[in-house]
Amino acid sequence: KRKAKIDTNALVTSILKKNITALSRAITLVESKNQKHKTQANAILKACLPHANNSIRIGITGVPGVGKSTFIEAFGKHLTAIGKRVAVLAIDPSSTITKGSILGDKTRMEDLVKDKNAFIRPSASGESLGGVARKTRETIILCEAAGFDVIIIETVGVGQSETTVHSMVDFFLLLKLAGAGDELQGIKRGIIEMADTIAINKADGDNLKKAKLAKVEFNRALHLYPEKESHWQPKVMLCSALKNEGIDAIWNIILEYVKTTSKNKFFNNKRSEQNKFWLIQTIEEQLKSDFFNTPKIKKALANQIQLIENNETSPFAAADYLLNLSR
Ligand code: GDP
Repeated sequence: KRKAKIDTNALVTSILKKNITALSRAITLVESKNQKHKTQANAILKACLPHANNSIRIGITGVPGVGKSTFIEAFGKHLTAIGKRVAVLAIDPSSTITKGSILGDKTRMEDLVKDKNAFIRPSASGESLGGVARKTRETIILCEAAGFDVIIIETVGVGQSETTVHSMVDFFLLLKLAGAGDELQGIKRGIIEMADTIAINKADGDNLKKAKLAKVEFNRALHLYPEKESHWQPKVMLCSALKNEGIDAIWNIILEYVKTTSKNKFFNNKRSEQNKFWLIQTIEEQLKSDFFNTPKIKKALANQIQLIENNETSPFAAADYLLNLSR
């Protein structure tokens, strides 16, 4: 029993001293479903919060095979080379849907994993994207308290995962391939609209010409959108993650973005808006889960479904009845 006791104060002290083992333990508590762990995690988060908020949070998305891990490795190495500490987190919705992982396993980012100024944490698993997202949000706070300057959050375009990542980062980077034929799809799905920069990866060798053409096309497409609230005109960049080309230029664009949006206050306003969003989101999730997990409701719900099937009540009347039952 004694062994299970965790000194949350000591853990926080170690996190603030940039101790990675302590950081990992705290993240494990955040990810735990155990109620006691949740209480401990909340205490740790509260103590870490005054030391958080000092990083640049970057979302990176793109279809499988676009080169996300290759890019993040090159990008991360560039950042640690210029003295930054980088944390890489992931939101992998596939693991909750198919029990498998699209973002993959430990063999990714082999060099970056070994870098003492980099911290890579795979996606939390959970039943819902909302659950995974919440854990990632909390992990960002822990990583910032542990002194990471740049937090990268990686995801793939499955379901709502891109929108989720967008709602927790300062800067959204979309990786694309030239001539993959998915340009219009991206536009349709609103992903391009979220991007602060589109980087066309694999702009090397035989691909370079196609990549340059794609750059022109994306630039044209981006100009069709109304001006962003951030007053930032999204950029289109070429890069080769494999050959380590264009990586530094993308970092410079991000710095330019931070400068521009800090000056016009959008940067902090966006973070406040995101905090509000997550407050409401968390309450909604909790209310929903509390409601559906109440034994009385579970039983009554089954009953009402039966009544609906028998045409004895309507879904709306049943909903009214159930909601009143819980009040
Ligand atoms: P992810 O699924 O988006 O994480 O993509 P990966 O990083 O695993 O890359 C998929 C494949 O594309 C791998 O075989 C990489 O070596 C290759 N790749 C990634 N970036 C580049 C690049 O800039 N140029 C070229 N030619 N190949 C790349």
